[in-house]
Amino acid sequence: MTGTIRTTTGRGLFGSILDTIGDTPAVRINNIAPDHVNLYVKAEFFNPGASVKDRLAVNIIEAAERDGTLKPGQTVIEATSGNTGIGLAVVCAQKGYPLVITMVETFSVERRKLMRMLGAKVVLTPKEERGVGMVNKAVELAEANGWFLARQFETAANADIHESTTAREIVNDFKDQGLDYFVTGYGTGGTVTGVGRVLRREMPDTKIILSEPANAQIVGSGTAQQRNADGSPAVTHPAWEPHPIQGWTPDFIPAVLQEGLDNKYYDELRPVAGPDGIKWAQKLAQQEGILTGVSGGSTFAVAMQIAEQAAPGSTILCMLPDTGERYLSTPLFDSIDAEMNEEERALSASTPGAQMS
Ligand code: PMP
Repeated sequence: MTGTIRTTTGRGLFGSILDTIGDTPAVRINNIAPDHVNLYVKAEFFNPGASVKDRLAVNIIEAAERDGTLKPGQTVIEATSGNTGIGLAVVCAQKGYPLVITMVETFSVERRKLMRMLGAKVVLTPKEERGVGMVNKAVELAEANGWFLARQFETAANADIHESTTAREIVNDFKDQGLDYFVTGYGTGGTVTGVGRVLRREMPDTKIILSEPANAQIVGSGTAQQRNADGSPAVTHPAWEPHPIQGWTPDFIPAVLQEGLDNKYYDELRPVAGPDGIKWAQKLAQQEGILTGVSGGSTFAVAMQIAEQAAPGSTILCMLPDTGERYLSTPLFDSIDAEMNEEERALSASTPGAQMS
């Protein structure tokens, strides 16, 4: 199937921006996938905050509203590599909660500006103290001020929303033609754990392929994470190194991911190098018109390896967690010029009108 059926009736009237979260499309790859497979990407940049983390953001806030741990007007705080902060900023702007984000200084400048644009305060933490430093700062500020800490790395609301939305969408979209492979990376592990719960139950033949950065194989190392009593990390994992795949693999194995590991919600673990992710993100943009970030490109790099080796007629789904526009100031765009190149200058000069001096 290559066509998309569009109705002329619109999508209906939405009650708020939050009602547009989820139900993201699975889109066929037509130009760069091998001919013998059906390769699809789940395009999470269709969410209003342009990433998969909008799902978790709305669920953390609404679960806390329901159980009373978040009071009207109370400040929300979270440690995040960016997308969760942007998602929380969307949700908090709509619902009227003040929001404070702690974030390691190395994540892209776009992320900081987007969160501030959406009304959040962003407190940067030093890169030497890594992800554990940004998490500890959020805990400290929450305790000092009586704020609601979102705890994306430990909260049940994370994998639960992927179980009840992302996974349901996948089962509905692929129940007829079947799904041979589901390919994803992990940040908190919410996606793989939540989707894994459902696929193992309802589509047990689907192979789940998990990926992590080649130079930070904290799951692949087999070394257990040391934790505090509340499940948060006690120390940086010894196999971790700084890597270029923003949003993936913090410097510890999150408790949310641990459930997926303990239950073997993956059949194979494949490392991927950051530059490969950048290469495939650029190919997706230039040859498919699909603009995704480095983690999407990295997941796609692995999906392409799987595709090459898969039996004819196999169907593969690859997660694309966010948009490429979030990476204008990063290596993803290093090879993309802002000024005209030779070829463009020659085109300009080839007809008389409107030439730059
Ligand atoms: N890619 C990006 C860009 C992300 O921000 C995240 C979430 N941190 C992920 C992938 C991984 O998603 P999850 O937290 O559900 O494992």
